[in-house]
Amino acid sequence: MRSRLTVWHGGPVWVSKDERTTALAARDGKVIAHGDEAIALIADAADVIDLAGRTLLPGFGDGHAHPVFGGIETLFAPMRGHETLEDLLAAVKKYADDNPHVSIVRGEGYDPSLAPRGEFDAAWLDAIVPDRPVVLRAMDYHTAWVNTKALELASITATTPQPSDGEITLRPDGTPMGTLREWGAWGLIYEKLEPLTSAQRMQAITAASDAFAAAGVTWAQDAWVEPDIMETWIAGAKAGALTFRANLAWLAEPEGKWRETLPTFDRMRARVDAEAPDFLTAGTVKFFADGILEGGTAAVLEDYCDCPNKGIPNWTREELIEAVAAVVAAGYQPHIHAIGDAGIRNALDAMENARKVHGEIINPVIAHSQLIDPADLPRFKELDVIANFEPLWAQLANEQVVLTIPRLGEDRGNRQYPMATLLHSGTKMSFGSDWPVTSPVPMEGIGVAITRQTDAGLPAEGWVPSERLTLDEALSAYTAGTAVQAGETHLWGDLRIGKRADVVLMDCDIHAVEPLAVRKVGVVGTWLGGVRVFG
Ligand SMILES: [Zn+2]
Repeated sequence: MRSRLTVWHGGPVWVSKDERTTALAARDGKVIAHGDEAIALIADAADVIDLAGRTLLPGFGDGHAHPVFGGIETLFAPMRGHETLEDLLAAVKKYADDNPHVSIVRGEGYDPSLAPRGEFDAAWLDAIVPDRPVVLRAMDYHTAWVNTKALELASITATTPQPSDGEITLRPDGTPMGTLREWGAWGLIYEKLEPLTSAQRMQAITAASDAFAAAGVTWAQDAWVEPDIMETWIAGAKAGALTFRANLAWLAEPEGKWRETLPTFDRMRARVDAEAPDFLTAGTVKFFADGILEGGTAAVLEDYCDCPNKGIPNWTREELIEAVAAVVAAGYQPHIHAIGDAGIRNALDAMENARKVHGEIINPVIAHSQLIDPADLPRFKELDVIANFEPLWAQLANEQVVLTIPRLGEDRGNRQYPMATLLHSGTKMSFGSDWPVTSPVPMEGIGVAITRQTDAGLPAEGWVPSERLTLDEALSAYTAGTAVQAGETHLWGDLRIGKRADVVLMDCDIHAVEPLAVRKVGVVGTWLGGVRVFG
């Protein structure tokens, strides 16, 4: 990507955690000068941006997101922002009534805390849409809520056996309730849905680009790619619709399915490299070691408090170890979703084995790292595993108070997201959003990482205040930390000379605002390789 000479001056330029300057110049997509040397180029510059005291940052790297899912949400019934079950149902009914030609009513992103224990009944949907299947997925993307027609579509009945990697929630009389947990359960329905049309693909990728450009995100790890999603990425890149770069992670599935798909990863990777080399890489494989704590599907070492079980490890420890070793041997970076302390232990065991067998592993990542057994904390650094966190989650919001902490109990509940403990022990750390699970805006997550408070400033001293980070530590995790995860520190992650001119202009001096106000700081300009893509 080539661009003209641009100079930004007149405000704080945050080069990296350890370096500031007062001006920045970029030519042909790369940073070429700092400070007075940059200011000396103003006379020749095609674009001169007056920072007016506002902070200039490196573009954010989102270490774990689902950009295409985020874009796809805009295609279906609007699920976000409803504060009661009644409002949510009214939105589904309105969408169904307004779209009589849609044969399956879909929606992505409902709030699972709107029903007790996150259990929603098919009958509630039958009452408003009796004639067509309704298939809704929760904002956690691990849970679905469907009506009776949808259960019939997948032939799910009282006699359907429970999948090993999911749960068909049952009513007391043994009939399927309509809430389906994890892929093993709702996949039975999702595999019956039509693939997206090419117009829908473009709408999704454009919506994702718009969301990330406005948030200042210039790189993202897509943490769940199957062939259909890959087609969407390639189509978007070829059409020039992307305003950020991305690395794709191929989904590896348990029960031996990964053995069949592993050879296809090489073919798909070759296509990405050939067809979208400027925007996409595809060197990662994603595993779900377990589910989620708020759904009771994360694998935990001790029983949940509210029901005597230890969640769902989607993989047996032995198969996860074998599969991670195989993808490492094939030259892929392992990226393992692991949330419960048992899931995280299995993931660490798999990384340890792969290191033993192969020596080198490309930047191994454990994503979410939510509940770590104290005995496993030092293993992240020992095994050189990157701990990826979604910092926005480290607050006592509804899903913690209503769903997660009641399942874990206070003691375990307060051990979630030990970000400062890991960082200060020398563990590599990256940040991400998991968008569309939660907001794609990095400053919102950074604001939580430094306060561990809700928007309302609660609790006053922060939730486990010893785990708060400094603003510079949090910024670094969302820039340099993600570049380490991407294996691209030579290209981006800071604004040193020679790096890509991926930069973001904030609406104020971010070091001058109160910690609780940091999450509200806006983005007024985003540049990818020196080309303005937002503002
Ligand atoms: Zn995710």
